[in-house]
Amino acid sequence: MSQLEIKALHVNLAEREIVKGITLTVKPGEVHAIMGPNGTGKSTLAKAIAGHPDYTITSGEVLLDGRSLLEMEPDERARAGLFLAFQYPNEVPGVTIANFLRAAMQARLAEGEELDATGYYKQLYAKMDSLKIDHKFTSRSVNTGFSGGEKKRCEILQMAMLAPKFALMDETDSGLDIDALRIVSDGVNTLRSSTLGILLITHYQRLLNYIVPDFVHVMYDGRIVRSGDKDLALELEAKGYSWVKKEIVHA
Ligand code: ADP
Ligand code: MG
Repeated sequence: MSQLEIKALHVNLAEREIVKGITLTVKPGEVHAIMGPNGTGKSTLAKAIAGHPDYTITSGEVLLDGRSLLEMEPDERARAGLFLAFQYPNEVPGVTIANFLRAAMQARLAEGEELDATGYYKQLYAKMDSLKIDHKFTSRSVNTGFSGGEKKRCEILQMAMLAPKFALMDETDSGLDIDALRIVSDGVNTLRSSTLGILLITHYQRLLNYIVPDFVHVMYDGRIVRSGDKDLALELEAKGYSWVKKEIVHA
C-alpha cells in the first residue's frame, strides 16, 4: 500500500510561515488536485515534500508507505518511489535524454547491480511509443533549448521510465500553452494506474478539464480551506477565488 500521508505540515521560508498546517492523504490510484490563488503556498508545499534545502519544516510529517520522507535525502526520496515534476525544469547541456534516463535508472539499482543496456533501450522505446514520442527525441540534450511542450514531454517520459509510486506535479502558473497542456494531460492519463498516486498542483482549472481528478482541494493562505470532487474545480472557475476568500473572511 503506497499511500502518501501529509500530516499537519507547517513550512517556513526565511523565517516566515508559508504552509500553515496541511493534512492530506493520497491513496494509490487517486489523483488529487490542489488549486489556489498565486502566493498561497502551493509550490512551497511541493518543494518542502521534495526536500528543497531553503524550506524548513517546523512541524508535521510526510509519510510514504508509512516511512518518513522528511528524514531522507532527496535521492533517497526518489528511490522510495517519489517522483517530482518541477515547474521550471533544469537544462542539462551535453547530456542526452537517453543517457540521463539511463543514469537515473542505474542510480536506483542496488550497489554492484548493472542496468542491462539492451533491456533499457527496449523499455525506453516501448514507453515512448505508448506516449507517442518520436524516438529521435532521446538524442537531444536534456531541456536545452526546449519549448515548454518539449520540457513537459521530457518530464512525462522520465515519469514513465522511473515508474514511481507517487508523483508530485507542480504545474502552477508556468504559462502552460495548449501544446504543453495536452502533453501533460495525455501523459498523465496514459500513466494513470491503480498503483500510482498523483498530487497535481495547478492554478488553472482548465488543466482539470483534461486530467479529471478524484479529489480537489482549495488552498488559501497556507491552508486547505475546502475539499471536494471534480465539481469543486468547476465551481471555482465559475465563481473565482474571491469566492473562497470571502467565505474565509466571513467564517
Ligand atoms: P504559489 O505556488 O501558491 O503561488 P508559493 O509557494 O510560490 O505560492 O509562494 C508562497 C509565498 O512565499 C508567497 O508569499 C511568496 O511571495 C513567497 N515566496 C516564494 N518564493 C520565495 C522566495 N524565493 N523568497 C521569498 N519569498 C518567497
Ligand atoms: Mg507556484
